[in-house]
Amino acid sequence: MRRHRNVKIVATLGPASNDYDMIRALFEAGADVFRLNMSHGAHEEIRERHAIIRKIEEDVGRPIAILADLQGPKLRCGVFADDSEELVEGHPFRFDLDPAEGDVKRVCLPHKEIFAALTPGSSLLVNDGKIRLKVENCGADFADCIVVTGGTISNRKGVNVPDVVLPLAALSDKDRRDLEFVCELGVDWLALSFVQRPEDVTEARELVKGRAAILSKIEKPAAVKAFAEILKVSDGIMVARGDLGVELPVQNVPPIQKQLVRGCRAAAKPVIVATQMLESMIESPVPTRAEVSDVATAIYEGADAVMLSAESAAGNYPIEAVTTMNNVAVEVENDPTYRDILDASRTVQRDTVADGIVLAAREIAETTDVKAICCFTHSGTTASLVSRERPRVPIIALTPFSGTARRLCLTWGTNCFFSGDVQRFKMAVVGAARAALAGGYATESDQIVVTAGVPFNVPGTTNILRVAPCEERLIFSTDPE
Ligand code: PGA
Ligand code: MN
Repeated sequence: MRRHRNVKIVATLGPASNDYDMIRALFEAGADVFRLNMSHGAHEEIRERHAIIRKIEEDVGRPIAILADLQGPKLRCGVFADDSEELVEGHPFRFDLDPAEGDVKRVCLPHKEIFAALTPGSSLLVNDGKIRLKVENCGADFADCIVVTGGTISNRKGVNVPDVVLPLAALSDKDRRDLEFVCELGVDWLALSFVQRPEDVTEARELVKGRAAILSKIEKPAAVKAFAEILKVSDGIMVARGDLGVELPVQNVPPIQKQLVRGCRAAAKPVIVATQMLESMIESPVPTRAEVSDVATAIYEGADAVMLSAESAAGNYPIEAVTTMNNVAVEVENDPTYRDILDASRTVQRDTVADGIVLAAREIAETTDVKAICCFTHSGTTASLVSRERPRVPIIALTPFSGTARRLCLTWGTNCFFSGDVQRFKMAVVGAARAALAGGYATESDQIVVTAGVPFNVPGTTNILRVAPCEERLIFSTDPE
């Protein structure tokens, strides 16, 4: 089953999408990566969804990536005696460390580090920024606030403190338990929430020990400032617009999105644009025009992937949401303007032999009649470099490692195949041609570009480029040796 678009679709799983039939339907509608949100769902539930995805992968014979998203140091208030309270503008409200149930005057905020960091004048935002409070007076275990914007506050609502770099550990105890659990289960990507500094990423990497690639979610003003350093130590990035738009004025989000997408492409690391992409489809089978335009914009910008959150996890129309994203992607990618924008935002790098080979592969694909760029890749780096070029023809990544194939499901335009253990370049060309034919990317009369590194068992040695026919007899008769 061939996708007719290059941008990838990430679908979050949840109560609306937790059985085989639904998850398979989401895959068939276009989901390339499934996101398991560790903020919700017990380990047993996560284990079941993980097993279902791996079963579907086996049944369809195509790699599928699993992304586990750690909750991170997300602040939450305690519970209320009546489950919720109405906060009224101009009224006082206190946060403190008293675990007793809250009422209309106070509630517990069980994070003592926060009280140390607050000062009079700091803002506290509750429930995705819908409620806004200003600190009037504070001490080691309390903050007396005035309600600036009122609303309903209920049990365990999220609290954001935008103007302060919080002295919080990057990973909570829950995150550490979740990290070990999902790494043992075997996930392909691990997303870190509320990253503030590059050290947060390196700290997680020490615990992950190579078992998953690491994706940093940019959702704090401090992370936007330190983006270049965070990108260097991350394998991928998520533009986490939900919390970003709470922590910063919403109008700051679109320029940050553009900056992050460009930065990631230049670094050949995948970037996901996330949150509220088709928000109204939680309850409606059709999106708003503005949402369609938002998805299209992210694709025009050259994002590797667009993501569904509650739309696929808890909404009434998960399949329609994936189908909508797929249809928008196909339409955008067929627009000649899309090409112009991608070409205009391209950066050329010539640091390594691999850079040179992928540049040449792109040039050949532009000027002659080749139908695909096939690259043999161990770590996935060469495929990512080819993807950075955003070539006109499909990218076929061939790898002996299932982990590499799965991780590349997030990378723009990459179609992954298992190559088995290849020892000789001639056999690599045969394998590439077979994959191109089997996937419907080329016919016997077509040509393909093949890149590889010889010797085959040494990673990071891409050093060959060949333009080859797809017909096996011709491969042998035109072989240079
Ligand atoms: P979340 O992250 O859905 O885990 O909060 C994404 C975002 O904040 O946009
Ligand atoms: Mn978030």
